[in-house]
Amino acid sequence: MNGKQPNQKDVVHYMKKLIIFDLDGTLAESKAAIDEEMAVILGNLLTVAKVAVISGGDWPQFEKQVLAYLPQKSLKRLSILPTCGTKFYKYSKGWKELYAENFTAKEKELITKELTEAVTKSGFEAKKTWGDQIEDRGSQVTYSALGQSAPLAEKKKWDPGFAKRKIIKKTLDKTLKAFSVQMGGATSIDITKPGIDKAYGIRKLKKVLDIKISEMIFIGDALMEGGNDHPAYKTDVDCIRVRNPEDTKRVVEGIMVCLGFKPAVAK
Ligand SMILES: [Mg+2]
Repeated sequence: MNGKQPNQKDVVHYMKKLIIFDLDGTLAESKAAIDEEMAVILGNLLTVAKVAVISGGDWPQFEKQVLAYLPQKSLKRLSILPTCGTKFYKYSKGWKELYAENFTAKEKELITKELTEAVTKSGFEAKKTWGDQIEDRGSQVTYSALGQSAPLAEKKKWDPGFAKRKIIKKTLDKTLKAFSVQMGGATSIDITKPGIDKAYGIRKLKKVLDIKISEMIFIGDALMEGGNDHPAYKTDVDCIRVRNPEDTKRVVEGIMVCLGFKPAVAK
């Protein structure tokens, strides 16, 4: 047989202990809750491995989309990393925030001022808005051109080709040089500290949970160049690309069997 077979020591080295997931498009459809089957699969996975979820979204999104549907007894092995790991939550008799690397009041003030000025300068101020346009997520400030509760149909019409936001971003790249300015969603501009991406979150997991990168798997739907999961590669973690939550379910079932889980017989 060609190729060297791994010896027992290497096999132990490659044993996976932590399965990391992206949220939107991987565990659930965008902004939607995980379905019943996914909840069962994640509950089962938590019996054989530690699990983490990293997303650019903030804590309330995780509560609404994932946590409400998982079995209580398995939550101890789950880590939640909102806003790409600038916040870290663990469960022990309720969810606890381990840390949050929030902007200072001064930084927030500067970001809000420059955002407002850049939008005014662009001439793209919306005539009608639904809710607040500037949202403070602690470690991320998000600008939503039509407001946070704008109807999807309106949002889709506003800047489908990113033309408006590119102009606003151009100004902000000059006035907010110490920060990272990214376009997201249908009408949003996100401002964070530079270098905050999924690689940042994975490094945080390594440190906080004391698990080697070689003992982790990352699963995401946007691992292609330019996708928000792509930075995961920078850490050398083993990555699996899925197309949707249905793909994720089958991938996880495969992983679970390798970790010793006995699947039920189909009825
Ligand atoms: Mg995704």
